[in-house]
Amino acid sequence: MLEPLPANKPVGRLAPSPTGAQHIGNARTYLLAWLSIRWRGGRLILRIEDIDSPRVKAGAAQQAIDDLHWLGLDWDEGPDIGGPHAPYVQTERIESYREALSRLQFARVYPCTCTRSDIEAAASAPHVEHEGAIYPGTCAGRSALDAVKLGDQPFAWRFRTTDQVIEFDDRVAGPQRVNVRRELGDFVVGKMDGSVAYQLAVVCDDHAMGVTEVLRGDDLLPSTFRQLELYAEFDWTPPTFAHVPLVVGPDGRRLAKRHGDTRLATLRQQGVSAERLIGLLAWSCGLRPTREPVTARELLVDFDLSRVSRERFLFTEPRPW
Ligand code: GLU
Ligand code: ZN
Repeated sequence: MLEPLPANKPVGRLAPSPTGAQHIGNARTYLLAWLSIRWRGGRLILRIEDIDSPRVKAGAAQQAIDDLHWLGLDWDEGPDIGGPHAPYVQTERIESYREALSRLQFARVYPCTCTRSDIEAAASAPHVEHEGAIYPGTCAGRSALDAVKLGDQPFAWRFRTTDQVIEFDDRVAGPQRVNVRRELGDFVVGKMDGSVAYQLAVVCDDHAMGVTEVLRGDDLLPSTFRQLELYAEFDWTPPTFAHVPLVVGPDGRRLAKRHGDTRLATLRQQGVSAERLIGLLAWSCGLRPTREPVTARELLVDFDLSRVSRERFLFTEPRPW
């Protein structure tokens, strides 16, 4: 039986995409997401974000779960343990996304027949390298009703953003403001093949699962403005947001394969202890003065989100343990 949730306790989530192995950069964000909720006695949900089917790798979801366990992180609801908001795998929640999309069709979307890379990439979160050009509004003259006139021509559903400044206070990155139409442009919510986009799926899930705090990498800051437009349209209360700096390689780019093998699964195989990695990450965040090995649980003693460094962590050493 689940304990009833005290009204003032935060609910957070860990949301790995099984499109590849989890690496040190992901671990740092998960650690902070876990600490930020647990130090206030809140609840955590594990959700597998697997709607980008062509990019999903076999076994990667289970490996992400194993990685998180290895790191010493835990959760109260998830695909492995169930819970009141099941299912916790996005491909099993597609019906709810379709329903949400059909609600948008009355007012805020239009069929877009452009062949553009942002349509192709829409099923995954647009991390830095995937923030493409601003959509020029080519199809914005259409309404949702125009879809029937298109016959067999394939189209994506694009969300009509507002031409106004949206503001929010990020718990880590501070006050943020953007004019979504001018600075980000209309974005894809439904793909040509009938599947839904990351932006829509993540908002539907965070709302349905009662998530009150989203903590993720700061390359998803622009997506938060898109998601806030969706929250407003659905008349749903948005969670609070905390965007933490990324781990970058020597070239200043988001940690990736080109920077060498920093996969958590590899570290495990090499016999590196999770405490050593957590020690390094805690030091990189300014939570500990040295890289002394430490457990995630030990960091709860004096954790405070406001102490987390606002600097990116430049990861240069191949084997800092
Ligand atoms: N599943 C996404 C990713 O791993 C995270 C999206 C989010 O936190 O909103 O890229
Ligand atoms: Zn278009």
